Amino acid sequence: MQRVAILYDASQAILSTFDLDEVLNQVLAIVHDYFHLQSGSILLFDEENRNLCVRAHFGEDFPSGSLSIPFGKGITGTAAKTRRPVYSPDVMIDSRYISHIASTRSELAIPLVVRDEVVGVLDCQSNLPNFFDNETVDLLTLFATQASIGLQNAKLYSMLQRRAAQLEAINALAKRTTVELDLKELLDRLCAQLPHFFPVEHVSIFLCDEEGALILRAQSNSVNPRLRVGDVLPRGYAGSSARNGDDLQDRSSSAGIAGDYASAHEEVCLPLLSFGENIGLLVCATAEKKAILANDIQALESVADILATATQNARYVDRVRQLAYRDGLTGVFNRRYFESRLVDEVTRAARYGGGVSVLMIDLDHFKRINDEFGHMLGDDVLRAVSAIFARQLRKVDVVCRYGGEEFAVVLPATQGASAVTVADKLRRAVANADFSGVPYCVTVSVGVAEFPANGITRDDIVRAADSALYDAKAAGRNQVCLASTSAAAS
Ligand code: GH3
Ligand code: MG
Ligand code: MG
Repeated sequence: MQRVAILYDASQAILSTFDLDEVLNQVLAIVHDYFHLQSGSILLFDEENRNLCVRAHFGEDFPSGSLSIPFGKGITGTAAKTRRPVYSPDVMIDSRYISHIASTRSELAIPLVVRDEVVGVLDCQSNLPNFFDNETVDLLTLFATQASIGLQNAKLYSMLQRRAAQLEAINALAKRTTVELDLKELLDRLCAQLPHFFPVEHVSIFLCDEEGALILRAQSNSVNPRLRVGDVLPRGYAGSSARNGDDLQDRSSSAGIAGDYASAHEEVCLPLLSFGENIGLLVCATAEKKAILANDIQALESVADILATATQNARYVDRVRQLAYRDGLTGVFNRRYFESRLVDEVTRAARYGGGVSVLMIDLDHFKRINDEFGHMLGDDVLRAVSAIFARQLRKVDVVCRYGGEEFAVVLPATQGASAVTVADKLRRAVANADFSGVPYCVTVSVGVAEFPANGITRDDIVRAADSALYDAKAAGRNQVCLASTSAAAS
């Protein structure tokens, strides 16, 4: 999470200027300083010539003179064309790669997308193969969305200088998206503030849910709303806008485009687009006639873009957070998550009762599997064992890889006796499972400890479970042992 926080600070720096070249240099400075890349560049899309031209760059080996890459060609051109980040972990074996820098071994190109249009590409290169891990790709993608806002702000500024007041408001909003990780708060604030800067009285924001239904997530205080937060936008309203990504303006209908304000005379409905995908709607309405001008709509589009980015950012942050808590090999939670979750569950059990139990599970003679069949197969066994645990347990139970071939399970609202039953179910499930490539039975030993009988702090409970696990090993393995209550005192 610290990396995300630093990145957000860096993004703010980009948003502090409207000058295009300054924005580009800020972006590259952050990529250079923060991600330790050998070279990087920003290419801007030249629509007329259908190519991407390097506008700013850093790196020692960067060729001098102007450089352009045809749209759709090379790693950068492909990213621009597909509107998706393109990662080439080893450019030497990537037929798309066009070489400009002899030392480059891996390359990551992220399109800079404003609304559904590609305006350029952030190109990152390293002289090491496989340099970019998933988290770095996600962080750079998140950062590129911020850089896109910076580019967009710069573009807008040159186009619409005279609408300085609106721009300032938009820039303030954009900055907010970098610090406001709570999406709901941002949406509420935006609904409340837009009427101060635009000739609109009512503002609603709809976001698509997983099934694609548009849900009203925030609205300004309207005297006459037909929909409430949480309601689904009825089909028929704003349908075409949501589908084809165009703005929709209604100057006459009293029914309204979104049908959510009975007293509206004019409504503007702007799709929220992220990487070309429609993720929601911004609806602005007013009771006045001919109040919303073309220029206002243009500026409102920027608001919609920032909103779309904020929404997407919130999703990315969620993903990065998820990654930070997952074990890379097995996909179950990691030790960091186990430790923080156990503290939460102990606090909850202390307040509301119901107990909480912990299982410490260690594979028996696992070294032998590695020694006899190799580490790769050992890894397969660890993955298969995690899958068995996940399958056998309730949704509320938390399976974690504690380290090596040891797992820890948190069983919320479960007392010791029930936890022993659960542990034995897991033990039997492993013992009865077939592990492809292992000709004998794989078994686990389990130590069980419960709050509060075996300890009242996280560390005491884990220590008690560990010691019970030791007992299970000493008693011959493939066993479950419950911590003794006297262990709590020692
Ligand atoms: P015991 O029944 O006493 O637990 O015996 P054991 O062999 O399981 O225990 P020991 O601690 O001697 O060995 C654990 C082995 O687990 C050694 C280590 O190489 C292996 N191991 C730890 N992490 C991983 C991993 O991520 N992948 C693989 N394949 N093996 C791992
Ligand atoms: Mg072991
Ligand atoms: Mg072990």
